[in-house]
Amino acid sequence: MTVTLVSDEGPVRDRLGIGGGAAAPGGARIRVVTTESAFSGASAHDPLFVTDRDGTGLDRLIDLVELRRRVTPSRAEFGMHAAYGAALRSAALRGGLGAALTDAWGDVVAVGTVEVPAWGGQYWDGDEHDARDFVFGVDPASAARTATVEVLLDLLAGMGAHLPAEPPELVGGLLAAFDGGQGSYGVGHGGAPAQSFESLGRVVHAEMAALVCAARSGVRVAGLTMYVTAQPCRQCLRHLVCAGLARVVFLGPQPDAAPSFHADSVTVRPDGSGRMPLVPFTGVGPGAYELLFGRQARHTPTKPGER
Ligand SMILES: [Zn+2]
Repeated sequence: MTVTLVSDEGPVRDRLGIGGGAAAPGGARIRVVTTESAFSGASAHDPLFVTDRDGTGLDRLIDLVELRRRVTPSRAEFGMHAAYGAALRSAALRGGLGAALTDAWGDVVAVGTVEVPAWGGQYWDGDEHDARDFVFGVDPASAARTATVEVLLDLLAGMGAHLPAEPPELVGGLLAAFDGGQGSYGVGHGGAPAQSFESLGRVVHAEMAALVCAARSGVRVAGLTMYVTAQPCRQCLRHLVCAGLARVVFLGPQPDAAPSFHADSVTVRPDGSGRMPLVPFTGVGPGAYELLFGRQARHTPTKPGER
């Protein structure tokens, strides 16, 4: 069994005696990766354990991996796992995200995924007259973005601009440059404003779907915590601020500062100070949840008092 510990910090690595490579405390292996490499791909699926800059929770991870004592999921781990479960039911053409709203007791009170809405919710597998984007093979937001770039290039060519190739040959490269390697919906925190085309798409984003799910069920959202499997995009973030959530916890690297466009109402500090905390998740990631906690649950003590 190998768990990937996400940390850039030397002291954290030193405590494991790793020095940046792989190690084997007890029988299991803990591999250490940087936040950049951990969150550059489909990180939610990987068996991650995420620490903060102080290495908080590292002893708990070792206890968990080595079965030293019984460790069960924290509220945050439970909430993020619920968000991940929602993400897995998305068939969105640009990948699925998930969100879960939890109350002060840690109970999940609403969930949402990235999916096309059906009347009173979002499509489920097996629904009659399934009209999700993948059925048609087209995401209207992506199509609108491509069409806009094509028009701009044609206009430039028509104005006599010197282009390095014919407009149709430039579209793909220009769009790739716009995306700038951003993982999910881009743009929320860097990159080019490709997301402004989101309003021309059909999917409801996971965070918005969770808010709507709560509204549909008559659940008050002020003061709830939201777990999201990636950092929210601009469109969602502004609505999460407006909803009065206690905090938003996302799977991803620690930001240096709140997004500049919401610096007045969002903070990366956990204590808020009159703004909504937007903080990275720490603990057992959803991709390691069954691996680690399932292993704990199956481990049956053989002697009284044995853990
Ligand atoms: Zn969004």
